[in-house]
Amino acid sequence: MSESMTCICCPLGCRIHIEKKGEKTQITGHRCKKGEEYALQEIRDPRRILTTTVPIDNGMLCLLPVKSNKEIPKNLVKACVIELSKISVNAPIKCGDLVCKNILGTEVDIIASRDMEER
Ligand code: SF4
Repeated sequence: MSESMTCICCPLGCRIHIEKKGEKTQITGHRCKKGEEYALQEIRDPRRILTTTVPIDNGMLCLLPVKSNKEIPKNLVKACVIELSKISVNAPIKCGDLVCKNILGTEVDIIASRDMEER
């Protein structure tokens, strides 16, 4: 098995190549240890920070930007967005306020990513 990916850990964006031969994994193209760790994480357990919006009642805007406080498994991102589409919050909200605890049992919380004043 061989795979290529772009490292997103810094602006250099190294092109990393992963070659799996039996039990051995060979990683090339990275310029630092961080890139190697990123590649291994991507093939074993890819994760992403989730950013989206949820409806907010009585706020200055009708949608509140939110994000996960940790990376969530990549294969659960879509399900989490669907789960969050069922949630609405009430203004006022402070940046960092809890919007959804332990979303879908991931042990990741969803928090507000900005303040939202009352209308
Ligand atoms: S491998 Fe290292 S130098 Fe290259 S993009 Fe990733 S973090 Fe940056």
